[in-house]
Amino acid sequence: MNIIFLGPPGAGKGTQSQRLAKKYGIAPISTGDMLRAEVKANSEIGKQAQEIMNAGQLVPDSLMVSMIQKRVKADDCKNGFILDGFPRNLEQAKALDKMFSEQNLTLNVVLSLKVDESALADRIAGRFSCAQCGASYNKYFNKPKHEGECDSCGSHEFIHRKDDNRETVLARLETYRNQTAPLLPYYEKKNCLFIIDGTKDINEVGQEIDEVLKKIRIQQG
Ligand code: AMP
Repeated sequence: MNIIFLGPPGAGKGTQSQRLAKKYGIAPISTGDMLRAEVKANSEIGKQAQEIMNAGQLVPDSLMVSMIQKRVKADDCKNGFILDGFPRNLEQAKALDKMFSEQNLTLNVVLSLKVDESALADRIAGRFSCAQCGASYNKYFNKPKHEGECDSCGSHEFIHRKDDNRETVLARLETYRNQTAPLLPYYEKKNCLFIIDGTKDINEVGQEIDEVLKKIRIQQG
């Protein structure tokens, strides 16, 4: 099963994508995480991406498309994958369509998490993740079960994203509005878009997603 997650920053794409990956044995692909790994490694790509990410803008399409083309060929994508953070604009969506058809892949569903902009800034301010395994948390509504210890891998080291500050968040929201939101009508026309209410509690959002996937599986056989 191949899934695209859409939604503004802070809507919960990462959390739900990690959950689905575990449940269905498919690969979670976060282009943001891939770029942050490049920045950490101080690679050429990382050097190119860092300033753009800190400004809340989009890294060039050609770089992102070739990154994804390579990534979906990895072994862990054989059962399928979840794209979290890609595509981010129409050019990337068209390149992805081409890649799916060239590689004989099917796009099963596009899930869009809907959350009001007013709620996003606070959500983002509270979030942090495990430095070892990347599991996502939020200090307001999704803390680790034991304080200071990752539920998934037991690590005690956590990180806060550099671009999760109010100023960059406003720029990221504007980028989402202008460049990513037009993907909703694009996928709606292809009849594969499902809107999920992302304001609910994490488990309830997960349940709504599971119901959509169940329906899709029955429809698509
Ligand atoms: P994310 O973790 O998905 O919020 O991404 C963090 C930042 O990485 C974004 O604000 C962009 O600067 C960059 N980025 C992630 N995915 C993409 C993409 N598909 N295209 C361009 N830039 C991206």
